[in-house]
Amino acid sequence: MDFTYPPEAEAFRKEFRAWLEGNLDPELAGRRSGLLDGGDDVVARLRAWNRTLADARYAAIAWPEEYGGRGASVMEQVVFAEEMSRAGAPGTLNPLGISNIAPAIMQWGTEEQKRTFLPSMLRGDDIWCQGFSEPNAGSDLASLRTRAVLDGDVFVVNGQKIWNTLGHLANWCELLVRTDPDVPKHKGISCLLVDMTLPGVEVRPLATITGEREFNEIF
Ligand SMILES: Cc1cc2nc3c(=O)[nH]c(=O)nc-3n(C[C@H](O)[C@H](O)[C@H](O)COP(=O)(O)OP(=O)(O)OC[C@H]3O[C@@H](n4cnc5c(N)ncnc54)[C@H](O)[C@@H]3O)c2cc1C
Repeated sequence: MDFTYPPEAEAFRKEFRAWLEGNLDPELAGRRSGLLDGGDDVVARLRAWNRTLADARYAAIAWPEEYGGRGASVMEQVVFAEEMSRAGAPGTLNPLGISNIAPAIMQWGTEEQKRTFLPSMLRGDDIWCQGFSEPNAGSDLASLRTRAVLDGDVFVVNGQKIWNTLGHLANWCELLVRTDPDVPKHKGISCLLVDMTLPGVEVRPLATITGEREFNEIF
């Protein structure tokens, strides 16, 4: 097997390593998990770092260039991860948003949603979480019971989500809800982009056995 990286990936490594040496805040090096339980000052520093990454188009290198990415190849993404780890550099404030939520918005979102949500996610101005799992809907996600009923031109949502990474910091949530209970359970599910600051949204942090405070319940 040939483990040599392609020349373009090695060229990217050289460029990115030099950029990290010149731009990474030394106070942040090694603070990879600071986002999970850090105080406001840590989040503020990480937000500044997130903006630095975004300005240099290093916040979401796999995104297409039109959205502020680099259209990076898989090997460039591998190199990026290796160099971030080598430098002890923290990632962005939107690990879930950038890799999971944004691609769905790019594929299915309206132009307005793309224009509104993607830039603020990229820069870490908004923090996103995912509201998929429920106490009785994990691997079998199609069992989810959180209901959304259209009332005029708004959805009224009732239910509980669990294991929501970054829910305690997020101001937006990609929420899976049941909008049609009269069809087979793997159908009738819709995806809402929910403003977490709306009245009625309650976030309860969950501490794990290791003491980390990454997860939450959302009601
Ligand atoms: C690090 C981390 C971050 C997460 N972040 C989020 C998040 O941000 N948002 C969110 O919504 N969720 C999140 N989750 C939740 C995650 O998606 C669920 O944990 C996952 O879907 C599994 O569900 P569960 O924990 O209820 O386990 P279960 O579905 O209850 O599974 C428990 C065990 O039973 C096994 N099992 C399940 N069904 C079957 C079957 N039919 N046959 C045989 N074996 C089976 C599973 O393999 C597993 O070993 C996160 C989880 C982790 C670990």
